[in-house]
Amino acid sequence: MAYDDILQRIRAAEAAQGRAEGSVHLIAVSKVQPDARVDAVLRDGHRLFGENYVQEAQGKWPTFRDTFGPVEVHLIGPLQTNKAKPALHLFDAIHTLDRPSLAHRLARLAQEAGRCPDLFVQVNTGEEPQKAGILPANADAFIAEARALDLPVTGAMCIPPEGEDPAPHFVHLAQIAERNGLPHLSMGMSADFEIAIAHGATHVRVGSALFGARTY
Ligand SMILES: *Cc1c(COP(=O)(O)O)cnc(C)c1O
Repeated sequence: MAYDDILQRIRAAEAAQGRAEGSVHLIAVSKVQPDARVDAVLRDGHRLFGENYVQEAQGKWPTFRDTFGPVEVHLIGPLQTNKAKPALHLFDAIHTLDRPSLAHRLARLAQEAGRCPDLFVQVNTGEEPQKAGILPANADAFIAEARALDLPVTGAMCIPPEGEDPAPHFVHLAQIAERNGLPHLSMGMSADFEIAIAHGATHVRVGSALFGARTY
């Protein structure tokens, strides 16, 4: 039921902006959720999920894919350079490309593997010292650097600071994506995905509103 509700809210937010139906993709964020909850959303027919941890995803998705067939899984959590190889093979997209060392590693691995997930550049729009993401002032140069390595950079991603109005962060990210010709915008979570859609989100990352609270 929660699944249908969320989808309906997404379709309504699309319509309110005059955007095409289906132009916003729901990424069901299944990190640390019990398998039974993930299984239920798969049975509802959903096939796009988000995970934060490489190891957790490795333990979960090969099995679910055996049962349900192709499922698109995106990495939305920080990626350590030493986990780049398994990440490249497991995920269909990585939303957290945020530094040159990771770009260079992914480029080398992609050359060896002959494949690379779609990449989103994570931008630290709130310029929070503890948060991952390239600083906004460095975003254009970093995107150019990643493209020069032949990486398939197709989007931008942000996580606005807790407790702040997210709208200015969404606007800022949309401007960065626009001027760099990036078609995908990964922004909006359980509390603010409708606001993100109003500002152009193409991928919303919804966890707790869909699966219930996470118990770590
Ligand atoms: C956990 C997480 C989400 C989902 O958060 P909810 O508030 O539960 O919807 C979205 N994006 C990222 C990057 C996350 O780590």
